[in-house]
Amino acid sequence: MSVELLGFNIDDYTFEEAVIKAKGLIDSPKVSQIITINPEMIQTAEKDNNFSNIIKEAEMVIPDGVGIELGLRITGKNVQRIPGIDFAKRMLYEASRNDIPTAIIGAKEEVITKAVENLQKEISGLNIVYFHNGYFQDDNAVFEELKAKAPKLILVALGSPKQEEFIYKAKTILKPALMIGIGGSLDVWSGNIKRAPKVFQNLGLEWLYRTVTQPSRFKRIFPALPLFLLKVLNYKDKI
Ligand code: UDP
Repeated sequence: MSVELLGFNIDDYTFEEAVIKAKGLIDSPKVSQIITINPEMIQTAEKDNNFSNIIKEAEMVIPDGVGIELGLRITGKNVQRIPGIDFAKRMLYEASRNDIPTAIIGAKEEVITKAVENLQKEISGLNIVYFHNGYFQDDNAVFEELKAKAPKLILVALGSPKQEEFIYKAKTILKPALMIGIGGSLDVWSGNIKRAPKVFQNLGLEWLYRTVTQPSRFKRIFPALPLFLLKVLNYKDKI
């Protein structure tokens, strides 16, 4: 089932249901895209038709972050937030358990190298058949390498909307696989950026911790949230 927010359908799954659905997508005979959506992405999509279509065509759109949860609550819908970074980590565990060949793309060379090393230490049996930093010019060269290695789970961390556009393009090129955009997850897994303390995570306030401790994010994200919620209210009054 899904719920609607500002014209976008967002899947209404619990964390465990989302994992089961995603495992189904790994087995499906095509390339599938999971988008972990946040208010900034919806705002980008409102100005960018191509990105808007990518979101609409995604096989799964999960509500990442408290902004989406609040926006849905304003419109009377109670949906459980699924932090993309936790979801992606869980999918890596599922992949290791089922011996699913996995690829990871994105971030700076030293970041992805360290993240892969840490993940392989943490998740026994994780089969990473390919990884590449996120600063390449030629998408097709990476697609060629992916075709040769044929991973079934591919995590892509290029920031948004770049990662969603890359995954969308891959849909017509790669062999069947599940692809998930994972934003800044590699920076966390490499140990370069610390996650907020658990108490902030549990209250849904990880964004507040990150915006206050990273001033560049503060300027970008802090004004965006109230504006986003106002827009949701306005939209709600119109229907
Ligand atoms: N990134 C990348 N290639 C690019 C731009 C960004 O690999 O061309 C990586 C960046 O190093 C970081 C991740 O994408 O690891 C997320 O970037 P950012 O924090 O800007 O995106 P957000 O999480 O805010 O979507």
